[in-house]
Amino acid sequence: MHRATQIAVPTLVRVKEGALDRVGIYLAREKRTTVAVFVSEGLQAPLPDRVAASLSAHGIQPGVWVEVADNRMETAAQLFTDLPGSVTALVGVGGGKALDLAKYVAFLARLPYYSVPTSLSNDGFCSPQASLTLQGKRRSLPAALPFGVVVDSAVCLAAPVVLTLAGVGDLVSKFTAIHDWKLAFHATGEPVNDFAALLSDGSIHAFLSHTAFDLTGIRLLATALMLNGIAMEISGSSRPASGAEHLISHALDLISARPRLHGLQVGIAAYIVSVLQGANTEQIAALFDATGFWTAIAADPFSRAEWIEAVRQAPSIKSNYYTVLSGRDATPYVERLLTGDRRLRPCFC
Ligand SMILES: [Zn+2]
Repeated sequence: MHRATQIAVPTLVRVKEGALDRVGIYLAREKRTTVAVFVSEGLQAPLPDRVAASLSAHGIQPGVWVEVADNRMETAAQLFTDLPGSVTALVGVGGGKALDLAKYVAFLARLPYYSVPTSLSNDGFCSPQASLTLQGKRRSLPAALPFGVVVDSAVCLAAPVVLTLAGVGDLVSKFTAIHDWKLAFHATGEPVNDFAALLSDGSIHAFLSHTAFDLTGIRLLATALMLNGIAMEISGSSRPASGAEHLISHALDLISARPRLHGLQVGIAAYIVSVLQGANTEQIAALFDATGFWTAIAADPFSRAEWIEAVRQAPSIKSNYYTVLSGRDATPYVERLLTGDRRLRPCFC
């Protein structure tokens, strides 16, 4: 049965050049005078200093300033326990682990969370889930959408290009995720939230209209990934953002000798899954041509044997999650595809 849809969306959204230097003013406007800042360990200079300068210029005290090196549940629990009572908001700055950890600690503390990604490698900077590890195993835990999302488009543009490509990979997986969701509806009656599906689908098309890696392209990519996170919140599930391609990537994370960036794995898996679904393959391929995604993967190819095993294991990764891989063994077909498809061939060794 559908639940009536009512969600809390981010209240502050800034996607623009120079936004990093305005974090302090955004916090000051909301009277968040003491905050906890979680920064990715090793975040490239001068980005942490720019945030610190912006806070100090507007009289914001960093009651806590932590460099985050891992996304362990145990670390999140410790940081939550150590959080001073004076802290009125959490700010996550950097990449995946710091943002996931900050999001989760904010959720535990019921404090507003400001997400400040410095690259766009996946849709986690504005999603209602936190990806943490518990005793070494990856877990996607329920959390809340950020109160604020601050994306400095110039900072993200200057990030290593492979991170942006990973973001593109995570974005195209929405084609296959939505398709799987519709397959699940027909196979099991699992309801599709029409608006979430529409938002997810529409967000990709905005980026497809301008795929260059420039300030406009980065803004569109950031917006698309953000709307995807909101689509997850609307549907109350990961369905709008995650289908068989995510199951393959999760399986790879478990079995691969050297797991790669989530978005790179998911992007190639989305292309493969699109062939199995018989839909959107040429759109994904064209986007990968335009952005140089294929070339980046071919420069450091995946292991064919690991991927075949991942496809075999994917359906058992998440129970009661119908996808195009359910009820059939797609492994022999994918095995032929990895060597027979002219685009995939150079991506594997
Ligand atoms: Zn993803």
